[in-house]
Amino acid sequence: MIYSGKCVTLSCDSEGIAELRFDRQDGSVNKLDRLTLAELHEALENLQLDPDVRGLLLTSGKSAFIVGADITEFANNFKLDNFAFKAWLRQTHKLFGMLENLPYPTVAAINGMALGGGFELSLCCDYRILADDGRVGLPEVSLGIYPGWGGSVRLPRLVGAQTGLDWLLSGRPQHAAIAESVGAVDRLAAADQLLLQARALLLEQLENGNDYLSRRNRKWAPIDLDPALVDQISAQIDRRPGKHYPASRVILELVQQHCTLAFDEAIECEVDTFPVLAKGTEARSLIGLFLSDQLLKRKAKQTAAHARRIDKAAVVGAGIMGGGIAYQSAATGTPILMKDINGDALELGLTEADAILSKQLARGKLNTAKKQAIFDQIEATLDYDRFQSVDIVVEAVVENRKIKAAVLSELEQQVGEGTVLTSNTSSISINRLAESLLAPENFCGMHFFNPVHAMPLVEVIRGDKSSDQAVATTVAYAASMGKTAIVVNDCPGFLVNRILFPYYNAFNRLLMDGVDFQRIDRVMEAFGWPMGPAYLADVIGLDTLVHADAVMVEGFPQRMLHDGGTLMQSMVRGERLGQKNGRGFYRYGVDENGKRTKEAEDATYDLVELMATAMPEVSDAEIVERMMIPMCLEAVRCLDDGIVETAAEVDMGVILGLGFPRFRGGPLRYIDHLGLNAFVAQVEKHSIQGPLYQVTTGLRQRCVDNQCFFDQ
Ligand code: NAD
Repeated sequence: MIYSGKCVTLSCDSEGIAELRFDRQDGSVNKLDRLTLAELHEALENLQLDPDVRGLLLTSGKSAFIVGADITEFANNFKLDNFAFKAWLRQTHKLFGMLENLPYPTVAAINGMALGGGFELSLCCDYRILADDGRVGLPEVSLGIYPGWGGSVRLPRLVGAQTGLDWLLSGRPQHAAIAESVGAVDRLAAADQLLLQARALLLEQLENGNDYLSRRNRKWAPIDLDPALVDQISAQIDRRPGKHYPASRVILELVQQHCTLAFDEAIECEVDTFPVLAKGTEARSLIGLFLSDQLLKRKAKQTAAHARRIDKAAVVGAGIMGGGIAYQSAATGTPILMKDINGDALELGLTEADAILSKQLARGKLNTAKKQAIFDQIEATLDYDRFQSVDIVVEAVVENRKIKAAVLSELEQQVGEGTVLTSNTSSISINRLAESLLAPENFCGMHFFNPVHAMPLVEVIRGDKSSDQAVATTVAYAASMGKTAIVVNDCPGFLVNRILFPYYNAFNRLLMDGVDFQRIDRVMEAFGWPMGPAYLADVIGLDTLVHADAVMVEGFPQRMLHDGGTLMQSMVRGERLGQKNGRGFYRYGVDENGKRTKEAEDATYDLVELMATAMPEVSDAEIVERMMIPMCLEAVRCLDDGIVETAAEVDMGVILGLGFPRFRGGPLRYIDHLGLNAFVAQVEKHSIQGPLYQVTTGLRQRCVDNQCFFDQ
């Protein structure tokens, strides 16, 4: 052994083949953190001094090669001033250069995955051989940055500008066959043959004399970038849902700028531009979200450790939600009973599950046998006969407190001891529903979002009497279904709807001030929302919104009460329910090509004219402020009232449940980005709008203490 560290070891065999092995002792994956990079440096120094080495293999002792840079450390370095930050980048370039300039051929044997910094490191080798089940890629764009350890320079030079830009801009990890076909890796090998084949490749190159040097020179050489390709990619960026994200455009401009430069100058160009993105709000938001997501996963894992084992589940109510829940449970491996009181409803529930499965079959995501196997895991029933054997039940009957209370009480008599009962109610108090149960400790809320298979969030609502085990089992069940679970204390609207309704209250106020709903949609979509509030209302259903709004008004009358009736109430009275009946703010139809159409509904304008009072012209910036302030303040209240434990959960709930623009980080991070004092000044400017526009005591205290919601 030439070198032995905690993450990196270096050895050399009798034929002069050295092996630099990444095998982190204190973790399940290899990542490029400070310690690993320091050890890599020491190992390379040792290597440079060893006269016997003729060639080098880079290998991994884990199931993946290297998953990337350590994001937590990365984010901390982003806080350095520009000078120190660039010095840190150059230090890693120097280290990677030590590997790239070794006086003999080098081969990276990539097993599992090499992503981000891990793939960038492998690009410093002369040859890459990839396990045929492995993947490589540069996902940095999804964090609002680009690969800053030479990846933006080396990859396009290796595979050509078009493919290089495609990989850099999509961020997608690429399958082995694609990676080989474009020349990002030189060879593929069966996973169990990888090391042998990597060694064979190295020995071959040793026989080829100095071939590796000409490869090296080719990899460093400038390349052409056709201006027509730049225009085409630029137009593609404009059409993307992520067009608000600055990273894509910066990456395109960067590659355009450095592709014709000498290699060292190109690297310097990459270093120079990196802080522009790394210190921007987009990267801070997206990296923050990545860290929040990790936090939530850790919390869910800790919570689920106290869960009851779930072998079988049941859902009561086979409607839109019940059918979706049954599908999701079956598709993720938990057999489920689906009960309704109505045979036709059961048929509809099964049809719903079948429709999702058929789509996946058509997309090639599963085969007929797998589709049938999943479908067979759903057992439709009109009775409670087999409920004794289930571990958890989701009640998803109509949103009526009396009916739900009766169903839950009936269920309690039918299930075995300790079975966890949950309700998918979106607006009824979990504590109130618990009153109908003899053992309320076995009960909590399990609030899915529609459509269940597509929406990533589940709110797990802890009632005053819910036991830790009931909550843990529900979190574990949600996680097993592939959902992100957030534990929320019971309150009107729980977390997500409680934060949504002040936004709709703001929307209603703007409408009443005569602001055009189409304009509000345009402005909020330009802000980054996937759909504006009018369109979103049509998608959710105006009747659903009006019903839930009444619950919020009852729960928080001091601030959520409206001045008189709302436009949406009038629309519902006029049978305008949104997409579900083709008429809402917009009118929906189908054109001659079968495509869905959406046009503004004249009748909405007629109603607005009757109800609204034309106010002085409101600017786009004011529309954003007036829409966002009540939502952000409610997010602050939810944190301060202890509805969830952390700011990360507030923001993730709003992002995953409502589609809050990710690059803005969530409502609390958005306040951080604006600056606490600037946000407070904005709120005070609009305080005339009423109780939803008043600075909370908690927020004032944060300003005094200069305490942001997030460290990163
Ligand atoms: P739905 O009307 O489509 O389905 C309700 C089903 O419950 C019907 O099939 C009905 O036959 C059945 N049912 C009624 N009484 C029953 C009983 N006693 N026993 C068994 N089945 C009974 O409703 P949905 O949209 O699926 O909503 C169900 C629940 O999910 C509601 O509490 C709703 O608030 C909540 N939710 C709905 C959405 C949504 O967007 N639809 C989103 C989140 C939560």
